[in-house]
Amino acid sequence: MNRRKDETSSKKGQKMDRRQALKKVGIGAAAATGVIVGAPAVHAKKRYRWKMVTAWGPNMPYLQTETEAWAKMVDKLSDGRLKIKVYAANELVPAFGIFDAVSSGTYQAFHCTPYFWAGKIPASQWFACVPFGLNAQGMNAWHFHGGGLQLWEEAYKPFNLIPRVAGNCGCQMGGWFRRKIETMDDYKGLKMRIPGLGGKVVAKAGGTVTLTAPPEIFTSLERGVIDAAEFVNPLLDMKMGLYKAAPYYYYPGWHEPGSVSEATFNADAYNSLPKDLQALLDYTTQTLNFRMLTGFEADNSAALRKLIDVYKVNVIAFPPNVLKGLKVLADEVLEEEAAKDAMAKKTHESFKKFRNEIGPWSVASEKAFYDYLLREYKV
Ligand code: CA
Repeated sequence: MNRRKDETSSKKGQKMDRRQALKKVGIGAAAATGVIVGAPAVHAKKRYRWKMVTAWGPNMPYLQTETEAWAKMVDKLSDGRLKIKVYAANELVPAFGIFDAVSSGTYQAFHCTPYFWAGKIPASQWFACVPFGLNAQGMNAWHFHGGGLQLWEEAYKPFNLIPRVAGNCGCQMGGWFRRKIETMDDYKGLKMRIPGLGGKVVAKAGGTVTLTAPPEIFTSLERGVIDAAEFVNPLLDMKMGLYKAAPYYYYPGWHEPGSVSEATFNADAYNSLPKDLQALLDYTTQTLNFRMLTGFEADNSAALRKLIDVYKVNVIAFPPNVLKGLKVLADEVLEEEAAKDAMAKKTHESFKKFRNEIGPWSVASEKAFYDYLLREYKV
C-alpha cells in the first residue's frame, strides 16, 4: 500500500515537473505565437576577423576616423560575427602598398582613393574623379545608377578585388602654391604634387608632377622639394599644416570636383562570407560614403574661416583664363589617356555619356541655385 502510494506521488511529481519545465522554456507560448521563446540557438555562427589597411594617417578626420567608426558599426550590426580592425598608413604597410597587400590576400580590405592605382589600372582614375567632371552628387549618381560601380568591379576583378564606394570629399581645393598662378605659363617648370588625371593635365601644361603619399606631402612642400601641392580640402589641409609650407591657397579643385574613396575587399575573403554579411558590407559602406561627405561639408567652412582669419592664408580663385586653359588641356588628356587602355576607354565613354545626360539638369538645379547663393556669400 505504502509502496503504491509512493509510486502515485512520484508520477504526479514527474508530471508537475515537466509542466513547470515546459513553462520555463516558453513552450506554452509557442502554441499561440509559433515562436519558441528562449530556445537555444541552433545555428553556430562563424566569426570572421579581418584587417583593413588604409592610405591615411592616424586620426585623419573622416578619411581614417569615419572608416574606423564604420568598422565598429559592422561589428555591432553583425553581432560580433565580423570584426574589422583598421590600420592607418605605415602601421602594417605603407600607403601605396595596400593595394598589393589586399590583392594578394595578406589583408582582407583597404580604404583609399582609386586614382592611386592608375599605374596598374588606368580606368581607376575615372572611378575616383575626372577633371572638370562631376561633383559628389554626380559621382554617386554615376556609380550607383549609371553603371560606374559595375565598370569598377570589372576593372578590379583581375586583381581579385571587389570595390565599394565608401567616401567622398566633395569639391576639393586647387592646392597650395609657393608662387602665384596668374597665367598658364606659370605652370611651366612647376613641380607639383597632384595625382590622377589632374596631374596629367598639369604635366601637359608644362609642370613636373609627383605622386607624393599623403603622410609625406607637408615635408616635401615645406622643404621646397616641390613648388605646389594639393591634398584635399580646408579641414584636412589645415590638419596637415600645409598653410605653414606655402602662402597661396587656390580654388576651386577643378581636378577633383567630387573625389570618391573606396573600401575594397579581397574577393576570396568577401566571397567566403555568408550572404548576409556581404550585404552588410555593401550597405554599410554606403553609410560610410554618406558620413564622410556630410562631415566634410559640415566642417570645411569653419576650417576655411580659420585659415583666413587666424593663419592669414591668401585664398585665391584661379583666374578665368587659367581655368579655361586647364579645361582645354583636360579634354585632350581624357581622350589621350582613354585611348591607351581598353578598360579606360570603356569607362571614359560611360562617364562622358552620363555627364552629358545629367548636365542640363545640373544647370537647371544646382547651378541656378548656387548662382543665387553667390549674391549672398563670398569667400
Ligand atoms: Ca586631392
